Amino acid sequence: MSSQHIVEAIVYDKVVQLVSDFFASELRRLSAKVERPLPARGIPFPRIDGPKCKNDRIGIVGAGPSGIHMAYSLKEEGFRNVKILEKSNRIGGKSVHVSKV
Ligand SMILES: Cc1cc2nc3c(=O)[nH]c(=O)nc-3n(C[C@H](O)[C@H](O)[C@H](O)COP(=O)(O)OP(=O)(O)OC[C@H]3O[C@@H](n4cnc5c(N)ncnc54)[C@H](O)[C@@H]3O)c2cc1C
Repeated sequence: MSSQHIVEAIVYDKVVQLVSDFFASELRRLSAKVERPLPARGIPFPRIDGPKCKNDRIGIVGAGPSGIHMAYSLKEEGFRNVKILEKSNRIGGKSVHVSKV
């Protein structure tokens, strides 16, 4: 191996070391952010007592993904009197507008 090749190999190793050090420190920085999420902003939702009796009448406003999921979950929990109140003439909420690609 010529001295020029040796110098190139050393430079290459240094560059690889620098790049991997950079990514390792970025990864540590991002992991720290994920492990310590920022405190929530805005006004927290008030705590609402949920239904107590399986026969309680439950009205869910909106047949978007959230409403449908909530109705499904309540039915799974055994609540029998669940109604979704939807103002439009279709279900799906905004997800209806998601184009089919
Ligand atoms: C173009 C576009 C692309 C998107 N792409 C994605 C994606 O790829 N992946 C993803 O995860 N999310 C995507 N989203 C976001 C996703 O569609 C929404 O996060 C989701 O629809 C929110 O669901 P939601 O049930 O909370 O609200 P909404 O979907 O807004 O549903 C609310 C429902 O409540 C009804 N409603 C409102 N007010 C009343 C009232 N007073 N009385 C009765 N009914 C009422 C509305 O008519 C509606 O049906 C996209 C959204 C859009 C617009």
